[in-house]
Amino acid sequence: MTEKRDVVIIGGGFGGLTCGIALAKEGKKVTVLEKCPIPGGAFQSFRRHGQMYDTGFHYVGGIGKGEVLHPLVTYFGLEDLPWQPLDDRFLEVHTLGHTLFLNRGFQQFVDGIAAEFPSEKAALRKLVSLMKSINKRIYDSVLPNHNVFDNVLMGVSAKAYLEANFSNPVVRNLLCGQCLTTELTDKLPLYAFLQSINSFTQGSYRLKGGGETLINRLVENLQATGGELLTRKAVDQFEIGEDGRIKGVHCSDGTEYHADLFVTTIHPNLTIQYTPECKEMRNIYRRRIQRLENTVGMFTVQLELRPDTIPYLNRSISIIESDDVWNTPCGKDAPVQNMLINFNVPLTGQFATNIDLLIPMSWDAVSEWEVSSLGHRPEAYKAFKQKKAEECIAFAKRYLPDLEGNILNYWTSTPLTYRDYTGTWHGSSYGIRKSYDNLLGTVLSPASPFENLYQAGQNMMLHGMLGVAMTTMMTCNAICGKDLLSQAR
Ligand SMILES: Cc1cc2nc3c(=O)[nH]c(=O)nc-3n(C[C@H](O)[C@H](O)[C@H](O)COP(=O)(O)OP(=O)(O)OC[C@H]3O[C@@H](n4cnc5c(N)ncnc54)[C@H](O)[C@@H]3O)c2cc1C
Repeated sequence: MTEKRDVVIIGGGFGGLTCGIALAKEGKKVTVLEKCPIPGGAFQSFRRHGQMYDTGFHYVGGIGKGEVLHPLVTYFGLEDLPWQPLDDRFLEVHTLGHTLFLNRGFQQFVDGIAAEFPSEKAALRKLVSLMKSINKRIYDSVLPNHNVFDNVLMGVSAKAYLEANFSNPVVRNLLCGQCLTTELTDKLPLYAFLQSINSFTQGSYRLKGGGETLINRLVENLQATGGELLTRKAVDQFEIGEDGRIKGVHCSDGTEYHADLFVTTIHPNLTIQYTPECKEMRNIYRRRIQRLENTVGMFTVQLELRPDTIPYLNRSISIIESDDVWNTPCGKDAPVQNMLINFNVPLTGQFATNIDLLIPMSWDAVSEWEVSSLGHRPEAYKAFKQKKAEECIAFAKRYLPDLEGNILNYWTSTPLTYRDYTGTWHGSSYGIRKSYDNLLGTVLSPASPFENLYQAGQNMMLHGMLGVAMTTMMTCNAICGKDLLSQAR
């Protein structure tokens, strides 16, 4: 039996740590429980041959002063990290035989595309005015009692919007280039699409030191506000009291943590799995959540480069070769067709040290090996990864010929890797898939079937640094019954 806290948070990823800081700032005694030896979840970094690689932190949008994420960056104490603004031409897109760029700044964004596609200028202006309308109201959407269904852009299909407003398929693909690692399906709400492109157009940034720098700072800030993070604490059961409230959580090492309030940031299917049968969490609720679809996962090839050979590129590259970017196959035998290439900021000098290649990959591609575990994968799985990695490298070399002869090593991760490291359901990159035509079913609320258990993290509303930070504010505002960001915005 351990001492009682005010709040126990399950999961030490970006969502769990930011919830921890927000609630600790409100004077609550907070403990964050993380199953892995290091925190960060999908934002954790790892080292190979002395070099640092990132799991899911590549670039973020809108964190500079006056930009959309800045109030959150300030609130969580991240403003003075070594953010590296990307070039004004922040994204290079290759599609349908064209090489095009997206420009920083709303006017430059419109002018840059319209210079080559003048007939799309009016549609681009309309798109930008929608982005600006998001900025005006963005923090209202996380106020206590705000109704997500009031957000009309959540109920519109991004695909249908682009098809109705842009006649040129090259322009449509170019706009999708920014959202290539956001899952592009015909279910994607326009709001999710716009929130991404809006923030990156305001300003795109990498971070020197990557996800580790971000997560270390969050842990420091959590501790500075009186919170604690405990790692190697895999929660495997919620304990329910006689009053129908959550009383505590049990971890696989036999420890128990008790609190007045709990926040779960792990996948809702796991929360359900760890909750014993009880009248509070009815089977109808369990089945509803378990039936929800998840976004696909990612296959990542991380390249270690020969030193001083390939200059660092201060923009990302998005390649779309598929016939239909909204329905690109990403199963086991699907050819490589779309890719995001990301350079990581070198700690010193002008040359790149490592580059990430990312392509979408479905759970089906690896599910035949689902019973295997980390460090004990069968040879067939290793051969599959090697073949896919070689396909990705050959594809990338067509756009970055300098890669030839300059790759020293590479490492890969599949949806199985993500499942086993971060507990994401079926290795899904962004958790529960939000559907513009089923918001009621797919956008989850901070509340749970238990009065003192709240939910946060990417599965609730939106993913990525911006989406998860917004979700944190939504959940913590609901817990505290006030607008925690009112001072910062
Ligand atoms: C390949 C990839 C690339 C991405 N690129 C970007 C990008 O460039 N920019 C961007 O903004 N976003 C990016 N994202 C998205 C972003 O990483 C996620 O949206 C965000 O990190 C999710 O944070 P979270 O806290 O909700 O979930 P997670 O990071 O999954 O955190 C959940 C935590 O809970 C822990 N956990 C699980 N089960 C238990 C348990 N039983 N007990 C205790 N702890 C448990 C996990 O170990 C994990 O640390 C990317 C994601 C992926 C997968």
